[in-house]
Amino acid sequence: MKEFKAESKKLMELMIHSIYTNKEIFLREIISNASDAIDKLHYQSLTDKKMKIKKDDFAIIIKANKDARTLTVSDNGIGMTKEELETNLGTIAKSGSLDFKEQNKKKENIDIIGQFGVGFYSAFMVASKVEVISKAYGSSESYSWTSTGIEGYTIKKSNKEHYGTDIILTIKDEEEYNRYLEDYELKNLIKKYSDYITYPIKMEVINDKKTKLETINSLVPLWKRNKKDISEEEYNTFYSDKFFDYEKPLSHIHTKAEGTLEYNSLLYIPSHASYNYYSKEYEKGLQLYSNGVLIMEKCADLIPDYFSFVKGIVDSSDLSLNISREMLQQNKVLKTIAHHIEKHIKNELICMQKERRDDYLKFWEAFGLQIKAGIYNSYGMDKEQLQDLLMFYSSKEDKLVTLKEYLEHNKDEKSIYYACGSSIDQIKTLPQVEAMASKDILLCSNYLDEFVFKVMDKYENKDFKNVCSDHIDLDTEEEKEELKTFNENAKDLLDFMENELDVQEVKFTNRLKNHPVCLSTAGEISVEMEKVMNAMPTNESVNAQKILEINSHHPIAQKLQELYKKDKEELKKYSKVLYAQARLIEGLPIDNPTDITNLICDILVK
Ligand code: ADP
Repeated sequence: MKEFKAESKKLMELMIHSIYTNKEIFLREIISNASDAIDKLHYQSLTDKKMKIKKDDFAIIIKANKDARTLTVSDNGIGMTKEELETNLGTIAKSGSLDFKEQNKKKENIDIIGQFGVGFYSAFMVASKVEVISKAYGSSESYSWTSTGIEGYTIKKSNKEHYGTDIILTIKDEEEYNRYLEDYELKNLIKKYSDYITYPIKMEVINDKKTKLETINSLVPLWKRNKKDISEEEYNTFYSDKFFDYEKPLSHIHTKAEGTLEYNSLLYIPSHASYNYYSKEYEKGLQLYSNGVLIMEKCADLIPDYFSFVKGIVDSSDLSLNISREMLQQNKVLKTIAHHIEKHIKNELICMQKERRDDYLKFWEAFGLQIKAGIYNSYGMDKEQLQDLLMFYSSKEDKLVTLKEYLEHNKDEKSIYYACGSSIDQIKTLPQVEAMASKDILLCSNYLDEFVFKVMDKYENKDFKNVCSDHIDLDTEEEKEELKTFNENAKDLLDFMENELDVQEVKFTNRLKNHPVCLSTAGEISVEMEKVMNAMPTNESVNAQKILEINSHHPIAQKLQELYKKDKEELKKYSKVLYAQARLIEGLPIDNPTDITNLICDILVK
């Protein structure tokens, strides 16, 4: 028995004791080695005219024997000589992956196996014994390499007839490994990981008592086929098979890049958010293939967070199968592809918004929050990219509109008006909104909306104005002067009320049609923002600087002035009740409801 090289031992130990749940990837690794071996011979046969091998002869054959608990993967590729068996299987080939592991000792060993596999040794995750019988092309001798683990391996002569390699795994005894002997499971694994290997992967099937070989993989991946030959149905079936979503996607984006950078991509925009989409468990990413071989199930670097809902695959012949995750992050090819992909997604969404509005509304319903969060989380840095995807409810149109549409409909306005609240219906009843009924106001019922406007600052040079808190200048000079005098004359009254209440200011206004009071704010924080920020799990509480506005045309204005002259105690009660009323309209809580309701009753019985 020969010993493994030190680093191989380490890696093998890692495999044998792997707690990694995704052990099934061993099959992908072995099949991919087989495919590589066939590639090598195929290449030789293309360059050496004397060799009489046709491409059609190449195949990878998989057989499971439940009684013997063996799983055999055979290929008719280039094979290995005795020396090659020794060097290729006795020493670790993927030196990079072990370095990676060393550097990341503290991290779990799960990553490295999960993301890249570690080739041949991954067989030891599921097998108690591995035998490799190989005959190099053109050689008359064949050899068998056997190992049951880290102790070492033995090599002896064998009598394999045909060139190529058989990998025979004796599957571990524990029940969890039984699935690797079931034809059905094996077929699934082939479909899942190796569907697009360019040589047929065959399994034995028994039909009318005759055994036949059935090809399991589809050989040419959908994404490599011509767009015009693919039906909508095929695109959709592929989507549901691959991404386990049984609702049709809203769109697919199929691209092919040729030239300096070669890759194919097939992306889908789902029609609904998966149950865990807005949770921490959701992992974004696209499947990454290197020339038809799946190398990463979820490559996060390929899509930005704000498009994390996109599902799909990218296949590039410019990426090596053995690329490590660290290398991948800095990989230029990958960065360029990611950049292209982002553009394609954006274009598709804009196109859907223009041409298929109903679909776009579905998209918006499902993923609008993600787009808003994208703008907010980047502090507005990504706004150029995302702002035209936004939609808000227009009070005039009575439906969702884009910001561009809003500007088109309201060409003469200097600002974009909005109001916030808990629902469209509730916002419509706000006194400030009713008072501005002639204007088109974006009614924002999502907690992020106002924060999005704040970080955007402007859209096409127009600023955003909250009709409830920002100063909106709609009055004539005359009206302004009149109101100013009104307020000046009532200064003592207003000061008195301010003293009684926890507000920044009390003032008369002429913008409330029939309503007696409303609450507005000074400064950056609006009432809606105060609500959202105080709902967050931090100890800090924020307080919007509140202004109680009283309708100067309402009878209550007169009443307050009278009370100021005659009965200050009564005025205190009125002040409290009016302020409570304004808070209620805004959806703010009242500190002491019992006090307030008693005050109301006091007034009622007078
Ligand atoms: P990698 O495939 O990344 O090189 P592996 O550990 O999977 O690393 O395999 C080590 C080496 O063993 C391969 O590079 C190849 O030379 C050889 N090998 C593995 N499987 C086969 C096979 N089926 N036919 C021929 N050579 C093989």
